Amino acid sequence: MDTTAEPLAAAYFDGITSRRHRVTLQVDNGIASIHGDVERQCPLAGLRVSEASRHGARIVTFPDGAYLEIEDRMAFAALLARTGHRGTLVARLQQSWRATLLAAAGMTIIMLLLWRFALPLLADAVAAAVPASVEQALGQRVLEQLDERMFAPSTLNEAEQQRIAAQFTRLAATLEGAQHYRLLFRKSRIGPNALALPSGQIVLTDELARLLVDDDEALMGVLAHELGHLQRRHLMRRVVHGAATGAATMALFGDASAMLATVPALLLDLKYSRDAELEADDFAATLMAAAGLDRARLALALERLAGDGEQAHAYLSSHPATAERVARLRDGVDKQRPK
Ligand SMILES: [Zn+2]
Repeated sequence: MDTTAEPLAAAYFDGITSRRHRVTLQVDNGIASIHGDVERQCPLAGLRVSEASRHGARIVTFPDGAYLEIEDRMAFAALLARTGHRGTLVARLQQSWRATLLAAAGMTIIMLLLWRFALPLLADAVAAAVPASVEQALGQRVLEQLDERMFAPSTLNEAEQQRIAAQFTRLAATLEGAQHYRLLFRKSRIGPNALALPSGQIVLTDELARLLVDDDEALMGVLAHELGHLQRRHLMRRVVHGAATGAATMALFGDASAMLATVPALLLDLKYSRDAELEADDFAATLMAAAGLDRARLALALERLAGDGEQAHAYLSSHPATAERVARLRDGVDKQRPK
């Protein structure tokens, strides 16, 4: 495909002055040669072909900005075709709309990938960087709203509360930052439940304490699971991810009150992901083992919650995958997911 082509008349402009130079263009072995008033050569690959806007001439631009104006489009196309370079220049021009579509599709895919993979990572990083003071403020705000909407003061007597609190303190003792974790008692309208707040407070409802009153180990299992949610920052990740997905990232960085406003609603309507549940269970199993407790008691607690009917609905719907969790806790999570 390296047949020598006929020279083609063209006008050469240096790209700086408006002076017109009469030249001929020849293509040989993939090299474009200019002869006449100006002598220069350039590999075809370095040239750009476009349409002139005024009178339909072809413009061939050199890398340095100099260009050729070629009036005879047909001869030019023929020249490129003869030299076997039609595909490189002319087709490129004709397919530019296709390139535009492809680029648009490419951008869309990149945006989707970013949304799917980068955003969660970003959310995790931001969640990890949320200062303790913000978490405290969040927790306080959430607790106030919950107290207003669905909690009443606990009806457990002092001795019961102290007994459970003491076991909880022992359970959390080995954790980093153990002093930040506090157990709160509330009577609730939502039945047996335990809720971990971003501040490190875990609210235990009287109904859950009574359901598991004969099985402290099972109750500690449920609380260990909540500690898992706190340690892995599941709620904060959800909050940040939600804020970012809602394009509220600016509000998040600029004004924490926007985020504060969304959290109580999120917590009330919270459904942890299956992955978060299993992660919290793994955490609970390890913590229970460290405290000399049997993780199968947590499986038992879940079964009793499930068997408690309507009342248990709130807990089970916010902590899904119950059957799978029970099976994993019974079979031994360590075998499946070595730590
Ligand atoms: Zn959970």
